[in-house]
Amino acid sequence: MRAFSLEHALLPQGWASKVLIEVDAAGMIASVTTDSEAGNAERIAGCVLPGMPNLHSHAFQRALAGLTEKGGPAHDSFWSWREQMYRFLERLTPDDVEAIATRLYIEMLEAGYTTVAEFQYLHHDPKGEVYSQADEMSQRLIAAAKTAGIALTLLPVFYAHSQFGGEPPTEGQRRFIHSVNGFNRLVSDLHAQLIHEPQMRLGIAPHSLRAVTPHELAAVVAHFEILDPRGPIHIHAAEQRKEVEDSLAWSGCRPVAWLLEHAGLDPRWCLIHATHMGPDEVAGLAATGAVAGLCPSTEADLGDGFFAAPEYLAARGQFGIGGDSHVGVDPFFELRLFEYGQRLRAQRRNVLAGETGASLGEALYRRAAIGGARAVGQYVGSLEVGRRADWVVLNGDDAALAEHAPQQILDAAIFGPARQPVRDVMVAGQWRVRDGRHAAAETSKAAYRASLRRLLQ
Ligand SMILES: [Zn+2]
Repeated sequence: MRAFSLEHALLPQGWASKVLIEVDAAGMIASVTTDSEAGNAERIAGCVLPGMPNLHSHAFQRALAGLTEKGGPAHDSFWSWREQMYRFLERLTPDDVEAIATRLYIEMLEAGYTTVAEFQYLHHDPKGEVYSQADEMSQRLIAAAKTAGIALTLLPVFYAHSQFGGEPPTEGQRRFIHSVNGFNRLVSDLHAQLIHEPQMRLGIAPHSLRAVTPHELAAVVAHFEILDPRGPIHIHAAEQRKEVEDSLAWSGCRPVAWLLEHAGLDPRWCLIHATHMGPDEVAGLAATGAVAGLCPSTEADLGDGFFAAPEYLAARGQFGIGGDSHVGVDPFFELRLFEYGQRLRAQRRNVLAGETGASLGEALYRRAAIGGARAVGQYVGSLEVGRRADWVVLNGDDAALAEHAPQQILDAAIFGPARQPVRDVMVAGQWRVRDGRHAAAETSKAAYRASLRRLLQ
């Protein structure tokens, strides 16, 4: 058992001082005592928060960030971006994927994310053939998470079609495609492996209602439920208006409405984006306990639209945040953009604030951490007994945070000009970042740059 004395800590009941936390050999929090003398405990100065789960990552897209911002033909959109993304991934090797993911996961840790849910749809070789080791790409992501020391929820993606109604996949999608049997075999093998990894969990991700038929959705969920009855299930839904129109043409239902009616949504489920919902879908999704997986920087980059946040939060809907295409790797930035989008839309301030006088930044951070923990299916997101000792120490040397009381510090970290709000980061009782740096930051950057140099030739 190890003991830490935290000067200030954000606990479920609010900010507390002189907090003594004991962590067991497995990295789980065994006790929390407030107003306690430090004794022999390791002292931690400043403000400590639960680590933030990043509930939606396509790691390889980190290397594409910044390469798709040129003026295109009229109506440059999500769909034209997707064509550029398909061309980029054609050349990616397993070594590239591991180098990019390792670098990304280290950047995530340095930014304050402590768990990542990897929505992994790149499986096969550039010709679309299965690698001699069928789970090669999954193993590279697992290796990257281990090198970085970030907790991982791996979500292999089932992808079979290019459009609603079971249309055949396009040439650009050849590296993603599985049969139901092939996919279920992959899931069984990965489950048998990850069950022995304390900071990893397996889930599944039927890609979207575009890519998966109702019959296939039922088959992959049924197989996974036998392995892990409470394991996470993620799906992209209603990111784009065109997707909603195509869904209506296919079934007479909008995507979230279809899932509410046919998929048995419950707290295991995470609907990524859920941008375009009508009032009944907002209320229905909130009532299921499923998590809305919001990715504000990617949704802004791709011009997706505005999530119905005031209505969904008022209905006590669960949400968390994801980096998705990684045009942003910063949980504070994602939360700022989430609120700013709503301000621009409503022409008001503090749109997502709760009670008068309460800190908006703290409310957003807490809800995203708890919702994110549910979505990744790991015992994280809160500093309390039985959860993992994953935490973030804010950087009191950043002038934007230096003189702020704990009760205001998250408003400053999210809405102020702090450029390096995070000083130290712990995962499962182990320090991964000290003084803003990860021990493998430089080696990971060199490998990342070598991959990128080759890919950009
Ligand atoms: Zn995505």
